[in-house]
Amino acid sequence: MSYQQRWSALARAMAKQTAALLITHPANVRYLCGFTGEGFLLAFNDENKKPQLFTDTRFTVEAQACAADIGLCDNKAITPQDALPFVDFDLGIEAEHLSTSAFLALKEKTGVVPTKGLVESLRIIKDAEEITLLKSAAALTDEAFIGILSCLAGLTERQIAARLLFELQNSGAEGPSFPFIVASGENGAKPHAEPGDRTPKPGEMVTIDFGCVKDGYCSDLTRTVPIGRPGDELRRLYRLVAHAQKKALACIRPGLPMADAHNAACSVFEFSGMLQYFTHSLGHGVGLEVHEAPRVNKRAEGTFQPGMVITCEPGLYVPGVGGVRIEDTCVVEEDGITIISREETT
Ligand code: ZN
Ligand code: ZN
Repeated sequence: MSYQQRWSALARAMAKQTAALLITHPANVRYLCGFTGEGFLLAFNDENKKPQLFTDTRFTVEAQACAADIGLCDNKAITPQDALPFVDFDLGIEAEHLSTSAFLALKEKTGVVPTKGLVESLRIIKDAEEITLLKSAAALTDEAFIGILSCLAGLTERQIAARLLFELQNSGAEGPSFPFIVASGENGAKPHAEPGDRTPKPGEMVTIDFGCVKDGYCSDLTRTVPIGRPGDELRRLYRLVAHAQKKALACIRPGLPMADAHNAACSVFEFSGMLQYFTHSLGHGVGLEVHEAPRVNKRAEGTFQPGMVITCEPGLYVPGVGGVRIEDTCVVEEDGITIISREETT
């Protein structure tokens, strides 16, 4: 999809809300014009009006290469108020991505229209080029995981995280898509445990949740790996989570309600009396950000649509015992899904 098509789609989304929208969220700016420096973009609900980019002279080269016109490229710190001469009437803002002080300063000078999720709603459906980039990021991540399996023994959680990051960047990733989670033994019961100096012991599980950014697009993968042979309880947790993921993946189909996929995983856990240990959403969108719309949980509204790229990551976290999470990423197709984190079509 061209940037022009994205501007037209945004203009339609803005139509009833605001004539001009100040886009301050970096991922949204990048999506609309390819600019990756610091600055913000002014978009209009008139499809023929090109968005204007505001940045400072540190980013002159990047600004000239992006798809927007340079509204202002100054050697001083640019503020949202610099966009006002380009606006005829009230200014729309991204309410979730503008500081209170910037909001108050704007409000003194003009009418401000808070908006929510206008660009994010466009980003939910990925185009073919984005899907290609997401597949590359996912493939790098899968390779890094397979690579580390043979050398896990004796490494601390922190060393496992460091080794994974090295492997990813060594293969061409720009960086991590989020701070890695490596949780061994009882730490596995914390869904967002930070890697520490603990060395996984035989009989434990290690949950490794990590991902990279490649060409701006993110990956997100979780594997739970046994060290030696874990006991019956941990192995039961693993089987339940794997089964729940399978059931949930079978519900990720175009046209099916998103909440049903979450509930499918819940049903497996409920049947086993373990539902209380599944404490988060089933999944989320992945794109320019590692966590983006849609959120797939029991409150999710709407259905899966072709072009969505989402994670499916059920988990069980039992205090004092440990935890298991298995996370894969899939593309919703016209007639099913493609799992891009492990090259498998269902
Ligand atoms: Zn993850
Ligand atoms: Zn995730």
